[in-house]
Amino acid sequence: MDMGEGWNYSSERQAKGEWSYLSKLQGFRQSKEVWYDDDGRDGGTEGEFGGPSPQPQKVIEEAGRTCYLSFENIEAHSHAEFIRRLIKLGHESPLEHAYATFRIQNGSRAMTHQLVRHRLMAVSQQSQRYVSEEHFSYVIPETMPAEYVEDYRRDMEVIQEMYHKWRQRGLKKEDARFVLPNACTSEIMVSANFREWRHILQVRTSKKAQWEIRNACRQILEILKGLAPDCFEDIAAAE
Ligand SMILES: Cc1cc2nc3c(=O)[nH]c(=O)nc-3n(C[C@H](O)[C@H](O)[C@H](O)COP(=O)(O)OP(=O)(O)OC[C@H]3O[C@@H](n4cnc5c(N)ncnc54)[C@H](O)[C@@H]3O)c2cc1C
Repeated sequence: MDMGEGWNYSSERQAKGEWSYLSKLQGFRQSKEVWYDDDGRDGGTEGEFGGPSPQPQKVIEEAGRTCYLSFENIEAHSHAEFIRRLIKLGHESPLEHAYATFRIQNGSRAMTHQLVRHRLMAVSQQSQRYVSEEHFSYVIPETMPAEYVEDYRRDMEVIQEMYHKWRQRGLKKEDARFVLPNACTSEIMVSANFREWRHILQVRTSKKAQWEIRNACRQILEILKGLAPDCFEDIAAAE
């Protein structure tokens, strides 16, 4: 996915166009009993990855209707109005029944550090104890004036040399990393339920959020709006 102007990375993989910043939605976790076809009938499918279908929204509708025992009102598209009503009421716990997982590549440690503060999100992150940071990739802040980019790149090269030096002197990766910058990229996989995603996306796409996490969350929001519009349509990312 193209992050637009101001996004420059040192990675060879990026140069070859082999990856994007935010790769893709990995799937929804759902139980067989509440897995629906597009027309609202039980499709009986298990373990299939989610796509642009109303399945997670049907899970949420079924959960919400459990509170009122109003299953007889379930129709092909009844989830839309029902979910909007739940959100308006602040009755958001049924949204906890649908999950979304993302793999985020080439974000900075500065960005991922902010992301992992959301404790209800499940996180697995590239380790600097086990993965070497020789030739690490780095993010160039989008606010960096163009005339200073080369200078910034030189700084990163100096840090790469520092890291290399300490590794040569026998420091383990877990200790050589002490000289690494926040700009260093880090791969991370994050999972959260829709209620938590709504919360995260509200605070991290706001104008007050830092530009990099805002860019990442804006993309997540767009994907989720495509897959579960009734759950996310009321959230507007700041420009
Ligand atoms: C614009 C912005 C600037 C920020 N600046 C800083 C900063 O300068 N320094 C800094 O350290 N952090 C900063 N943060 C991080 C912020 O303080 C939170 O740690 C982060 O947003 C995660 O909070 P959360 O409520 O989403 O998630 P979680 O901490 O995962 O909590 C999830 C939800 O559970 C509830 N909850 C969790 N724990 C408790 C508890 N102990 N008591 C009561 N309710 C609880 C709350 O409703 C909370 O919203 C910033 C965040 C933003 C969005």
